[in-house]
Amino acid sequence: MHVDPKISCHFSLLSLGDELVQGKKTDTNSPWLAKELVELGLEPEELCTLDDGVTHICAALLRLAEAADVVLITGGLGPTLDDVTRESVAAAAGVGLAEDAAALAWLSGRFHEMGREMAASNLRQVLFPEGARVLPNEKGTAPGFHMTIGNTEVFALPGPPREMKPMFRNSVVPILESLGKSLELLPRARFYLHSTSESVFAEQVHGAGDWMARDANPLLAVTASHGVLSVQLTARDRTAASNQKLEQRARDFRSLFGDFIYSEAESRPAFALGATLIAAGLSVTMAESCTGGGIAAALTDVPGISAVFERSFVTYSNAAKHADLGVPEQLLEANGAVSSEVVAAMARGAAERAGTDLALSVSGIAGPGGGTEHKPVGLVWFGVYAVHKGEATVHTVSHRFPNADRAQVRTWAVRTGLMLLLQSARDLAKK
Ligand code: AMP
Ligand code: MG
Repeated sequence: MHVDPKISCHFSLLSLGDELVQGKKTDTNSPWLAKELVELGLEPEELCTLDDGVTHICAALLRLAEAADVVLITGGLGPTLDDVTRESVAAAAGVGLAEDAAALAWLSGRFHEMGREMAASNLRQVLFPEGARVLPNEKGTAPGFHMTIGNTEVFALPGPPREMKPMFRNSVVPILESLGKSLELLPRARFYLHSTSESVFAEQVHGAGDWMARDANPLLAVTASHGVLSVQLTARDRTAASNQKLEQRARDFRSLFGDFIYSEAESRPAFALGATLIAAGLSVTMAESCTGGGIAAALTDVPGISAVFERSFVTYSNAAKHADLGVPEQLLEANGAVSSEVVAAMARGAAERAGTDLALSVSGIAGPGGGTEHKPVGLVWFGVYAVHKGEATVHTVSHRFPNADRAQVRTWAVRTGLMLLLQSARDLAKK
């Protein structure tokens, strides 16, 4: 699709429902749609939430249509009289409502399949503003619709998120594409970073230049979530000059943050690890105390992981560490379970029993009880065992997660463990 670099497409989102403005329900539709649009390189400009009243929905729609190229409405398509989206859009477009014969046949068929009698109120759901195109609903009984008001494309989607999302992806996006709206992604680069905070990041970026200015080209956006920083560089337009600037900035970014970047494609640490292990054919096992199997659970979210993951060990008690992993009793007694010596023995024991290339062990004090002066709550030891060409190495590292509750210590320990494994897997894959 040829796209004029100067075209941009402005979106407004309108979520409708008494329950939304009365605080009984939170609007999740507009934020979800906004994120999808941003992913597509489009520009949501306004999110608007209104109760179910024809007069002001109509007024808001006319106002939004003045400035926006596309208005996406969610909600108010139900069978009951309090759902008034269709009436409001028809009023704004200055047209009447008409029954759609194909939609009626489809809806009757759906009720027949469900073995239910169709209520008279459901007939409202096959009324659409004249000139509208009906959008099928794969998950419910309320079809959506698409029409134009002036030069603005208006889409009305059902309120329930499980119905709205597939309709957006399967019907709205293809229609926008066919309309020649600028749906191609602006050139961009993504980086996912671990072990660095937003403030340290900002300081380092600042040292490198004015990369974070609002009018910078490329634009740099950073968001932090669960210890991961997601960084996106987006070119301002599709010109060759902007593309070159983007490529240069991406190179500079890699040399500045290389140690912290764990992926340029996959935000989820377990998935980045899974992909690396599978690609390199490296088998892995875990010996988990503190995290109780959380690392194995995260890794087995990854489809296809059975190619490299066969078993794992949850050894919570000292007796289990001895019986299942062969950790010597005197080692446990002399050093305590939360120690460099014990995690080293746990990792080795797990790898030898599972016959893997890599093993990760974890032992820590999740709290709230059990901390001491030397081993406070939040102290977690990790062991990484790696075997390459018959030669095994084990290294251990401790992390402190201060001021964290039990759940946070365990969550952070899972993520740190995944990152340690990822580093080792990368190192092994390079050899
Ligand atoms: P409606 O299409 O207005 O009948 O909405 C049906 C149901 O969808 C409501 O009861 C809500 O549970 C849900 N819903 C509607 N709008 C939203 C929204 N903006 N965000 C999340 N859920 C919504
Ligand atoms: Mg409603």
